[in-house]
Amino acid sequence: MGNKKINWAKLFSILGLIWLASSFIHPLHVSLGGKMVQINAYPEIYLIPLFGIWRLRTEKQPYQRTRIKWMMGLFFLYWVLLFNLYPQVPFVDGTTHTTYLAVHMVGSLPFFLMLIAVAFMGKRADCGWNCPCVFDRETIGFAFRDATLKGDFWWRFRHIKWIGMIIVWGYFIYMLLDPAHAYQRFGETMYETILWAYYLSFLIIPFTGHRSFCRWGCPWAATWGVLNLAGFYKIKADAEKCIDCGLCERECDMGVPIRNLISEKGMIRSTECMGCGRCVQVCPKEVLTFHDYKDVFKSRNLSPLERNIRLAGGLTVAGLIVLEPGSPWGYLGLAFFFTGLFGFCPTYAVIGTVVKKVKPPAGRSKDQ
Ligand code: SF4
Ligand code: SF4
Ligand code: SF4
Repeated sequence: MGNKKINWAKLFSILGLIWLASSFIHPLHVSLGGKMVQINAYPEIYLIPLFGIWRLRTEKQPYQRTRIKWMMGLFFLYWVLLFNLYPQVPFVDGTTHTTYLAVHMVGSLPFFLMLIAVAFMGKRADCGWNCPCVFDRETIGFAFRDATLKGDFWWRFRHIKWIGMIIVWGYFIYMLLDPAHAYQRFGETMYETILWAYYLSFLIIPFTGHRSFCRWGCPWAATWGVLNLAGFYKIKADAEKCIDCGLCERECDMGVPIRNLISEKGMIRSTECMGCGRCVQVCPKEVLTFHDYKDVFKSRNLSPLERNIRLAGGLTVAGLIVLEPGSPWGYLGLAFFFTGLFGFCPTYAVIGTVVKKVKPPAGRSKDQ
């Protein structure tokens, strides 16, 4: 008899993934106090924090620990708090739908805001740091990271997702042409199909790795991916320093052929890169560096982190221009967005000038 140890992380991961998938595929109802209640509704709310704590306890790389903390914080900010504050958001066809799904529904207010964010920050804005699916996959499904299918053969599968993207954008055009009927005639079935694919994809994670749907099947991965190419985001490479050790590729959960990209283009500019930063952190020769809007619009008085918070946070609040017309908060959010974009805050500039004026000249003691 072999002395095989039970891999508890994988066992709990399988149970978590089945429970998560069941919330859509097979809702379980029980009678509580005379009311039918779905006991497996929104399991993300407790599964993500539970598996997130496990991830924080086991993750060694400081950058990834920071990323997990941000993911958990953003999950509660965007997908619990905001979802409860604004349960419905408008679409270009004049309808409203639930906020929870709206980022991933073409033509919604959050969808357009996300397009802008991805253009400036790359897929980090959604797929790397801030999407219910990445939270699920990088916490509940993470134990199966080592099952990720890599290599030339699997890299070709990335093209499948263009089919979904074409259908989704085809629907967007239909929505504009026939807003009264597009959703009933096509949109409802389309979203139902995407949701089936999305939830079923959790069940294949043990065989394909945790990001397989993001790599091959997600229409939004394709849409944001186009902006990865057209926008400001890329990972620059100092090809001269590369020793071809392959550590970066071993770390990449999206199966990006990093070394080929470095030698052919001198950078990682790919529709697949979701900006997790694993390759950047693991490289022993510091070959790779992130590049985005901050390298184009140089900062005057804001740190990179503050710029990102202002850009993304300001953009989110700017949505109030549409949600609450007449309210000044949306315009304040827009102003915040621009301070992040240009790395310049007028308030800080004024405070800085005042502080400089009242500060005693260097070299003079207080008693002088
Ligand atoms: S690729 Fe799709 S499923 Fe994956 S994190 Fe991005 S939006 Fe979510
Ligand atoms: S290329 Fe680097 S940053 Fe992009 S997904 Fe792969 S490991 Fe993450
Ligand atoms: S980890 Fe760095 S040195 Fe090694 S192959 Fe990747 S880029 Fe080159």
